[in-house]
Amino acid sequence: MTAAHLTIHLDAIVDNWSALASRSSGETAAVVKADGYGLDSGRVAAALRRAGARQFFVAVAEEAIKLRSAIGPEPQINVFSGHMAGDAALIQRLNLVPMLNSREQVERHLQALPDHPFGVQLDSGMNRLGMEPAEWHALAPDLLARKPTLVMSHLACADEPDHPMNAQQLQAFRKMVDGIDAPRSLAATGGILLGPDYHFELTRPGIGLYGGFPFTDATPVVRLDIPVIQTRIVEAGETVGYGNSWTATAPTRIATIAAGYADGILRALSSKVTLWHNGTPCPLRGRVSMDLLTVEVPLDGPAPEHLTLLGPDQGVDVLADLADTIGYEILTSLGHRYGRTYIGG
Ligand SMILES: *Cc1c(COP(=O)(O)O)cnc(C)c1O
Repeated sequence: MTAAHLTIHLDAIVDNWSALASRSSGETAAVVKADGYGLDSGRVAAALRRAGARQFFVAVAEEAIKLRSAIGPEPQINVFSGHMAGDAALIQRLNLVPMLNSREQVERHLQALPDHPFGVQLDSGMNRLGMEPAEWHALAPDLLARKPTLVMSHLACADEPDHPMNAQQLQAFRKMVDGIDAPRSLAATGGILLGPDYHFELTRPGIGLYGGFPFTDATPVVRLDIPVIQTRIVEAGETVGYGNSWTATAPTRIATIAAGYADGILRALSSKVTLWHNGTPCPLRGRVSMDLLTVEVPLDGPAPEHLTLLGPDQGVDVLADLADTIGYEILTSLGHRYGRTYIGG
C-alpha cells in the first residue's frame, strides 16, 4: 500500500451541520457543490439527510445526478447557476429547483417548465450571480405570484465580520425582499456567524460543514496520512530535491513519502509546510514534487511508517495560510489517488 490515505469523518460533518443549524434562526440547508467540497457529495448528503437536512445546494445541474441517487427523491436539490440552456430535461427528471438568475433564465424556465418549482437569486452587491434590483422590481409581481420556493442572495465579505459590505448587502437585500412571503436566504457559513439579522428563513452553510474557516469552532473532518517509502541520512552540505532548494547544515534524516502536487498538495507549500508523526513536527525539506515529498524526521529511533499532513495537529486552514489560499481550495484539490475511508454517518 503506497497510496496516501484520506480519512473523512462524516460524524464530524453532521456535528458541524447541527452546530450551525442550532445557531441559525430558520431552517438550515447544506451546500454540497464541487462533490461536497471534494469529500463526496453523495456520502456527505446522505449523512446529513439522516441528521435532518431537507435541502441541498449544488452549483450546476449535472452535480445533482449523483446527489439524487444518494439521497432519494424527497430532499430538495437547489441549483445556484439556475436554469441553463439545455437543462430542462434534467431539471424535470431529477426534480431540481433552479435559482433563476436573470430575466433570460426566467423566460427559459417559464417556457420550458411553466409549472415546475423555482427560486430566485438576487444580486445585493457582489456582482456575480443574480438579478439586479431594477430587474427584480420589474419581474417581482409576476414571479412572486408564482410562489418561488426561495429568494436568495450571497454575501461577498461575510468571513470578515467588521467589513462594512456586510451591512450594506443586508440593507440592499432587505430593500428587495422585505414584506414578501416567499422564504428568504442570505447567509452561508460566514453569514450564520454574523448573527440572526442575516439568517432569514433559510441558511446555507458549505465550508463550515467541512471544518473550514470562518467556522473556527468546527470539529475537524479530514485526516491525511502519507506512507514513508524510504529514509536516508544526508550529511551537512548535501541538498534535497529539485532545484537543490534545501541544503542540510547537519546530518539529517530525510523520509521520502508518497504524495505530491498531483494529489493536491500545492507546490506553493514547498519548504513551508510541516508534517506530523504522533505529535512530533516533521518539516518538509525542499520542493513538493508530483508524487513525492521529502521530510525531515527525527534522527533517532525507528523510522515512522506514515506522516500526517492533515489531522489533529493541523487543519486545512494552516495549509491554506502557508500556500496563500483558502481552505476551500485545499479541500477541493484533495487528490483522486488517495485511498479513502469514511467514518460514521
Ligand atoms: C458556495 C456557496 C455557499 C456556501 O458558502 P460557504 O462559504 O462555503 O459556507 C452558499 N451560497 C452560495 C451562493 C455559494 O456559492
